[in-house]
Amino acid sequence: MTTTSLARTPLARTTRRLSLLKPTGHLTLGNLLGALRPMAAAQQEADCFYGIADLHSLTVPHDPARLRVLVREQATLLLAVGLDASTLFVQSRVPTHAQLGYLLECVATTGELNRMIQFKEKGRGVASTRVSLYTYPALMAADILLYRPTQVPVGDDQRQHVELTRDLAMRFNTTYGHVFTVPEITVPPSGARVMDLADPTSKMGKTGGRSDGAGVIHLLDSPDVVGRKVARAVTDSDTGPSSVRVDRGRKPGVTNLLEILAVCGGSPDGVTTYGALKKAVTDAAVATLEPIQASYADLAADPAHVSSVFAAGAERCVSVTTPVLAAAQAAMGL
Ligand code: AMP
Repeated sequence: MTTTSLARTPLARTTRRLSLLKPTGHLTLGNLLGALRPMAAAQQEADCFYGIADLHSLTVPHDPARLRVLVREQATLLLAVGLDASTLFVQSRVPTHAQLGYLLECVATTGELNRMIQFKEKGRGVASTRVSLYTYPALMAADILLYRPTQVPVGDDQRQHVELTRDLAMRFNTTYGHVFTVPEITVPPSGARVMDLADPTSKMGKTGGRSDGAGVIHLLDSPDVVGRKVARAVTDSDTGPSSVRVDRGRKPGVTNLLEILAVCGGSPDGVTTYGALKKAVTDAAVATLEPIQASYADLAADPAHVSSVFAAGAERCVSVTTPVLAAAQAAMGL
């Protein structure tokens, strides 16, 4: 959801990276290829903080029991995909996030929050809209500013949030004294973008999208389920000799399958029919998921270990962010 990097010392050039994922559904192959794999790779060069944004998933009607299951599953999966060299945490276990979020609500204006796209599209004018859907951009600003990043790489969908974060940081610093680093917005390297198998013009998303989950491969799907979903993937009626080719405009389904095949380490060599393509994609996706699922099974059998990793992570986040919160509180006269 959010990624930040921070130059901690000019000499060491150690960067800090922060990403939060919302536990609003089961993690997908799209999350793996577009987010979790790059997050794992970043561990080589950055001090990584990766969080489960449970507070952000309360902005729309939710089921507490399901949320608990999804947070536990996501925590276990973050470890299973190899994020064990990072500081892993659940947002609600690091109270500084909500505490600074409230202070930033006291800096943000209704004019600003009225303009936020999520609220405009999903909540404005609807009497049952949760107040938190209106105020969550202040919490998101807190998520970022607490870690004092100098740069925030964001895709287009998150740009408005980070622009607000910058505005709030600048207004706070001008009004109350310099506390926050105002992060620069940078463009992230373009990662893999996996499309829904049943609706290849929209993103493969956790919440299922228009295909209602039929075109979404989840990380814990069994090989049979993966095979069935790929077998039903939308292609086209082209049967010519070069029908298996990349052409995002005219062949979005086939292009998506070829891209999934490539990022899952498969090869299209010798693949000339859609049947063969689907078989190759299934094999490559199953081979990609297999080690993750094996590791997940081991970790799920030892929940105390997963809990202790996340408890230690939250403790580190508290110690890193408490001085920032304390400075903001003091500057505001608290
Ligand atoms: P979301 O599941 O939409 O909350 O996104 C969490 C992270 O996963 C973000 O970094 C997204 O860019 C990434 N992500 C989600 N779905 C996809 C997808 N279908 N393809 C590539 N990346 C994705």
